[in-house]
Amino acid sequence: MAIRGIKRYLTDTFKDFVPDTYPRIYQQEIAVIGAGPAGLAAAHTLAMMGYPVTVFDQEPVAGGMLNVGIPKFRLPRDVIERDVARLEKAGIKFVMGVRISKTHIEELKKHFDSIIVAAGASHSKELMIDGWRKEGVLTALHFMERVNHDQDIWRHPGQEFVRNGDVVVIGGGSVAVDCARTAVRLGAKSVTCVCLESGENVPCHPWELAEAMEEGIKLMEGWSPKQFAGAHNEMTGVRLSKVNKFEKAQDGKISFEIDASQTMTLPADMVIVAIGQAPDKFWQEYADDENIDFAGDIVSSACSVVDAMASGIKAARKTDAKIQGREVKTASADHELVAAEDYDKRYPANRFKIARPPMPMVAPEDRIKNFDEVETEYSKEVIGVEVKRCLQCGFSEVDASKCIGCGICRTVCPKGDVITMVSAGKGGY
Ligand SMILES: Cc1cc2nc3c(=O)[nH]c(=O)nc-3n(C[C@H](O)[C@H](O)[C@H](O)COP(=O)(O)OP(=O)(O)OC[C@H]3O[C@@H](n4cnc5c(N)ncnc54)[C@H](O)[C@@H]3O)c2cc1C
Repeated sequence: MAIRGIKRYLTDTFKDFVPDTYPRIYQQEIAVIGAGPAGLAAAHTLAMMGYPVTVFDQEPVAGGMLNVGIPKFRLPRDVIERDVARLEKAGIKFVMGVRISKTHIEELKKHFDSIIVAAGASHSKELMIDGWRKEGVLTALHFMERVNHDQDIWRHPGQEFVRNGDVVVIGGGSVAVDCARTAVRLGAKSVTCVCLESGENVPCHPWELAEAMEEGIKLMEGWSPKQFAGAHNEMTGVRLSKVNKFEKAQDGKISFEIDASQTMTLPADMVIVAIGQAPDKFWQEYADDENIDFAGDIVSSACSVVDAMASGIKAARKTDAKIQGREVKTASADHELVAAEDYDKRYPANRFKIARPPMPMVAPEDRIKNFDEVETEYSKEVIGVEVKRCLQCGFSEVDASKCIGCGICRTVCPKGDVITMVSAGKGGY
């Protein structure tokens, strides 16, 4: 099922919903450092459990990369404001505009019983090849931060590099694609992403690459940047060498070889380097501190918003277990799978095959003209059909006369490994 689309429909439909303030059950106070998705999810989980929670962030507005990194055409800002307002209403305290340093940590430890650090990975990695200090070279975060705080980009000379210029984005991940799509909307003449990987190794999602290509962005697979070319500070192009061997180890480390005989120069007025982010190093000193837990991109920088939130919820559960001296509650302990009533059970064998409806989108030629949201939402009618595709698979027993042994239940069930397919006799499973 299109779970994300259904959730979106529900949150948009009930956008005026205001939660009650959560009751305070425990005295122990928790500090959360970072108001990005990981910190917000951790704070919310702890507040729901009954803890007083204070969230600290260096930025004036909560949201982390949701505000600073992710482009507005993917996430309109009123959605973040709405969610943060609900958290405030639920009783979470926000202290904004405070950058927590080592000195603060010692102070926080005196006042709070436990701390969760969800400070993200806010340093874009630099590509220190010949010419990397040229004015036309920006890192992904630097670029996105300026665009997302729109008053700044118009004043900065960097803007001139984008409008009517050739923009080259180094990287083939989701962040690179977001930067490329942003450059298109700023009026770039051409936008090309260059990455080391080829084919299925290209790290971004295929659907986001497809959307980017619809917007006129090109992808050059299997090329390695060697030099940002141009006299003095001027940027005229990126010299590239062909990658003839690429390998990615299980721990994510990459290695590659280039063919020095195959080179080319791609014209560029501006280069955006999107090759990954890293966290502040000083947090490493607290890795073994028993009063501090970590969540989100600071733990694993190849993260997404959903991963960061899941990690925040996990850290909150761990904090609660530590304070109360109990075992860590797992998500499934809270969400018991309840079998549907008989009449609600939907057997694959009895059902028509209805495909998942595509998410409605603004046409490429219209969406590149502005920063309005690209994805719109399912209509009430589509949602009505989509929710009926649910197999209501909270089965504890299977009616062998109807089961066709397709195994879908095993694939979709969150507790899949408890379902065993065994022969039930003559031709049935
Ligand atoms: C350009 C870009 C586009 C992206 N697009 C997507 C996308 O489309 N979909 C998706 O799922 N993911 C996307 N991501 C990834 C996603 O944004 C991150 O994985 C997610 O935001 C990580 O959440 P977090 O809470 O761990 O960290 P962050 O969102 O980085 O939040 C960390 C917070 O901690 C604060 N902080 C840091 N240090 C301190 C300190 N010392 N004191 C006080 N506060 C501090 C920061 O100000 C920030 O608010 C994108 C990332 C980038 C950079």
